[in-house]
Amino acid sequence: MSNYQVDKKGYYGEFGGAYVPEILYATVKNLQEQYLPIIESQEFKDEYHALLRDYVGRPSPLYFARRMSEQYGCQLYLKREDLNHTGAHKINNTVGQILLAKKMGKTRIIAETGAGQHGVATATVCALMGMKCEVFMGATDVERQHTNVERMKMLGAEVHPVRTGNMTLSDACSEAIRDWCCHPADTFYIVGSTMGPHPYPDLVARMQSVISEEIKWQLQEKIGRDYPDYLIACIGGGSNAAGTIYHYMDDERVKIVLAEAGGHGWDTDYTAATIHRGTTGILHGAKMLVMQNEDGQIQEAFTISAGLDYPGVGPMHCNMAKQGRTQVLSINDDEAIYGGYELTRMEGIIPAIESAHAIAALKKLTFKPSDVVVLTVSGRGDKDVETYLKNKQMAKEYGNF
Ligand SMILES: *Cc1c(COP(=O)(O)O)cnc(C)c1O
Repeated sequence: MSNYQVDKKGYYGEFGGAYVPEILYATVKNLQEQYLPIIESQEFKDEYHALLRDYVGRPSPLYFARRMSEQYGCQLYLKREDLNHTGAHKINNTVGQILLAKKMGKTRIIAETGAGQHGVATATVCALMGMKCEVFMGATDVERQHTNVERMKMLGAEVHPVRTGNMTLSDACSEAIRDWCCHPADTFYIVGSTMGPHPYPDLVARMQSVISEEIKWQLQEKIGRDYPDYLIACIGGGSNAAGTIYHYMDDERVKIVLAEAGGHGWDTDYTAATIHRGTTGILHGAKMLVMQNEDGQIQEAFTISAGLDYPGVGPMHCNMAKQGRTQVLSINDDEAIYGGYELTRMEGIIPAIESAHAIAALKKLTFKPSDVVVLTVSGRGDKDVETYLKNKQMAKEYGNF
């Protein structure tokens, strides 16, 4: 029995659960009862895997990064989620959840989004399935992430700017939950990361677990053994990390290193390093580590990376970090920008700034030359080119480009 999987009540150790308003109780309970029988059915698996193959473009390559391997004195393989349709790992999850929604007879889809990546991935699968899609997005993010708003609109989604609180991701989540409360019967809420009330963290982790399923056979093919010495991923809510580690959680031969967004530093007021800084609280339906003040008011997260800009972190990761199974590093903005430039200049791959946090973790680890390291590049950096260029000086000061 795994120490790190969700238990029957929806908890990972002390974290998780389903803290929802009474009006959603029956809806969430129904989802808890139905999700496993549906996603484990042969019919679901056939449809899901066919779409992953022909629509998303899976399997994503496991690429041996020769120059970066030399640089860091290890055998570095990159899991290329940046090559998926829509440019990140998020689509693995939205494809799965929309199939589940259809099988549950739902007709309307809602989602929250921060940077807009999950909003685009949701709008994409809604177009694919001909379903109505409404996306909640903080008004600040609507301005900051204009291209993704346009993409969602072109895909036929309705984007609702949210003007409460800081007008960012956390507020968009609250608003999506509020909407769900008003339309529990016909609406399916496609949650974008390993967060939210049970069963969402488990559902999302299973949908993303295709990443480590592929790593297993790809490593077997390439190096003749199916496990690495290290797995490295960035962590916001925790979905690409969960997918990367899913089939290795209980394999103690594999060290797991996760990179969270330090912003200006985890010990400053400008950070999104929730595992370093958070305390136990309830946010968006689950008990997790959250950044909050003494009165339990949520503190705004700060990072250069819009996709990691969330004051909480999924319950699975709270538990694994607490148990000491994962090593969590806080990567600051300047280190991430440097990591992004480094991968770009050494391998010709422009990573999302989120993924650049994982790259930057390499500098903080000491490897043996024989160590096999698999690092997930969660998304591509087209959306971030302007930010990279604007902050080039940051990387210059940190290293020598
Ligand atoms: C959304 C996003 C993340 C952060 O979300 P997780 O759920 O922690 O994976 C990381 N990388 C990219 C490219 C993203 O779009």
